Amino acid sequence: MNKERIIKVAVVGAGYVGSTTAYTLMVSGLISELVLIDINKDKAEGEVMDMNHGMPFVRPVDLYMGDYKDCAGADIVILTAGANQKPGETRIDLVKKNTEIFKGIISQVLKYNSDCILLVVTNPVDILAYVTYKISGFPKNRVIGSGTVLDTSRFRYLIGQKVDIDPRNVHAYIIGEHGDTEVPTWSLANIAGIQMDEYCKGLDLCLGEATRKEIFENVKNAAYQIINKKGATYYAVALAVRRIVEAIVRNENSILTVSSLMEGQYGINDICLSLPSLVNRKGIEKVLDIPLNSEEMMLLSKSAAALKEAAGTLEL
Ligand code: NAD
Repeated sequence: MNKERIIKVAVVGAGYVGSTTAYTLMVSGLISELVLIDINKDKAEGEVMDMNHGMPFVRPVDLYMGDYKDCAGADIVILTAGANQKPGETRIDLVKKNTEIFKGIISQVLKYNSDCILLVVTNPVDILAYVTYKISGFPKNRVIGSGTVLDTSRFRYLIGQKVDIDPRNVHAYIIGEHGDTEVPTWSLANIAGIQMDEYCKGLDLCLGEATRKEIFENVKNAAYQIINKKGATYYAVALAVRRIVEAIVRNENSILTVSSLMEGQYGINDICLSLPSLVNRKGIEKVLDIPLNSEEMMLLSKSAAALKEAAGTLEL
């Protein structure tokens, strides 16, 4: 990578998630050019004006409202456009609507850029990452779903709250679908290399079965809870996307639970889901083979089966 080169990102979709992601990237100092694209040009323009008026307070970013032609030269195109969950809707309910929207968007992006990394955030994110992989023809390392990066963050935060530890020092992953069948890998959860059970032994803070269940239910149902209260979720996902962008543009070799094409991992093929993966300038360098226990493996297979069923209903 040419170090003198500017880092450009395009965000498609200027709704709650797209505009918050753009804002988070604007204040991150990571990128120097940022274009926001939406079918609703007024919305995109209004968001861009609002953000640009804060530019004297951050490192300069060339931030503008654009069209698909402005995807040319982007290192990363972030896809946040489409319908979001309404109260009572699951992520899978969005599949047909958003697949049709994606078919149009991907063909537009490809006219102007076939070298970028496509970072899918729209739900159901695993299915749409798969749709994007199929219709873009991109190599699998350059199609990334934000996957369970957000769920893993929620998991680490909630465990950290229970055991009174900085969530950055809680190591634990949510894998599988970003949605109802996601899997908590309690067997791998640790603090400073100390297994969670061991860490809690002798403390009043013991994470027994009931507490674990409560933590995981709160992770899995977080979007439903937030949507019921305020209509949409966007701050934490924007930070999760910023973290993925950071790992890519800074070539960090970071381990993140992004969603990508499975090719035989745990016997799973031809669907996208999340496993801890090494992320760098190339996108997904590799998917790690983590030591799951038999229950986690069984739940991961179920999660993959649910995603296959949903993807099977689509004409790609
Ligand atoms: P929103 O309704 O606020 O925004 C969607 C935007 O997409 C709108 O501005 C709309 O005009 C635009 N749009 C629709 N069709 C378009 C098209 N063909 N071309 C360009 N723009 C188009 O929704 P939101 O709350 O921002 O959510 C966006 C998506 O992100 C949803 O699918 C939501 O479920 C998902 N989401 C994902 C995560 C995650 O962790 N992956 C977290 C939260 C939300």
